[in-house]
Amino acid sequence: MRCERCDQADRLPVRRAKVAEKQGRVAVVLGVPMEECPACGERWLDWDVARRLDDLLTELLAAGAEVATRHFDGTSEAA
Ligand SMILES: [Zn+2]
Repeated sequence: MRCERCDQADRLPVRRAKVAEKQGRVAVVLGVPMEECPACGERWLDWDVARRLDDLLTELLAAGAEVATRHFDGTSEAA
């Protein structure tokens, strides 16, 4: 699908890490599926992905570790 932001390239499916920070704690979710424009770098998340990502980040931040990491597909990893 053409990027509607820059109109220079097609959006590509990629996997990227997403990071959230709250009160000095950092949560990282790896391998989040999304689309990205290789020209301008704009990213798009599906609604379902965004909702699950939000749940994961909230869960990680609530766990109490200074840095918490997990993979979007479900395997937790020690940071
Ligand atoms: Zn673009």
